[in-house]
Amino acid sequence: MTTNERVFSPVNSSPCCRPIRARLDFSALRHNFSVARGYAKDTKLWAVIKADAYGHGQFAAARALDGLTDGYALLESEVAVSLREQGLRQPILLLEGFFAPEEIARIVQYDLTTVIHSKNQLEMLAAARSRPAHVYLKIDTGMNRLGFEQQETGAVLQQLEQLGIRQITLMTHFADADTGAGFAAQLDSARQLAGRANLPWSLANSAALMKRPESLGGWARPGIMLYGGSPFGLTPGRTAAELGLRPVMTLESRLVALRTVKAGERVGYGGTWQATADTPVGIVACGYADGYPRHAPTGAPIAVAGALSRTLGRVSMDMIACDLRDVPNAMIGSPVTLWGSGEGGAVDADALAEAAGTISYTLFCALAGRVPRVYENL
Ligand SMILES: *Cc1c(COP(=O)(O)O)cnc(C)c1O
Repeated sequence: MTTNERVFSPVNSSPCCRPIRARLDFSALRHNFSVARGYAKDTKLWAVIKADAYGHGQFAAARALDGLTDGYALLESEVAVSLREQGLRQPILLLEGFFAPEEIARIVQYDLTTVIHSKNQLEMLAAARSRPAHVYLKIDTGMNRLGFEQQETGAVLQQLEQLGIRQITLMTHFADADTGAGFAAQLDSARQLAGRANLPWSLANSAALMKRPESLGGWARPGIMLYGGSPFGLTPGRTAAELGLRPVMTLESRLVALRTVKAGERVGYGGTWQATADTPVGIVACGYADGYPRHAPTGAPIAVAGALSRTLGRVSMDMIACDLRDVPNAMIGSPVTLWGSGEGGAVDADALAEAAGTISYTLFCALAGRVPRVYENL
């Protein structure tokens, strides 16, 4: 290997010595997909692989679901083109459509399905030399983010027809398929609009797919559940484990130092945790520069040598401290699971996310480039 190759080779190509790594178990991805399928037997499924498959690797995820999913949904048309060039034939949906007029020719050439959500996109389509056969018409039914106003639907449909686009699916996105505020009104609006124009629809994300069977039919768009996160967080009865979902990503590392922190002493930046008694403490090779949430407070769940423990003090860039009082056999090199399930034990990503005041989506997406990936069961 020349020096240049070493400098420019991807950081995640071969794990060496710092013990942190992310193990990605694609048999769990396929399992979770079959769980989604079980909820939505007469509904086609877009496997949502946006954001690099929620941090899991979009090309690996696409390959792992080949032969199972009805299609893939993502954001960037250049990623869709790469998937086509790698031989992927299934439908591909661009969840936000095109951002620039240059993308339209690519959408046509590579047979991509595009969302159209705005007048601006409609103008770009009208000015384009070629037009896609199939579009997803996104209507805003209450999210107030993307989509045409409901009362514009008729006029937009007419314009699409004039442009020679006849295959149209009505799409909307729920603001709260989970706790239900506004869900029924959004569903009602979508139903009416689709019914009036006799259009197929695509409504459900993971939460709606599992909790709102009335929103199924047409095509659903599960994302987080495929990666083993629960869209309901730790809601009793609806945790990932209770839903039968398995973690795909396990972030694991090892203890790299041990110490006893004396009563009255403090640990880490700001000294936010103070020992009330002499406490055995382990230092883990994982910090916020690896994607661990810096805002996780003392007490966040962490598994060490098979025992569930807790973090102590602030998360540093490259390290975090943990409590070893209930891990009597801990030593340097003991395995640690930050989230997922591995040699160190199991930590539900949703439990860590809740402790850190966030959602498991952000943990997965934030996994840093410097963490070596180990792909399993691809
Ligand atoms: C991200 C996304 C989804 C998937 O949502 P999950 O909550 O991860 O299941 C579905 N539809 C659209 C439009 C999205 O942007």
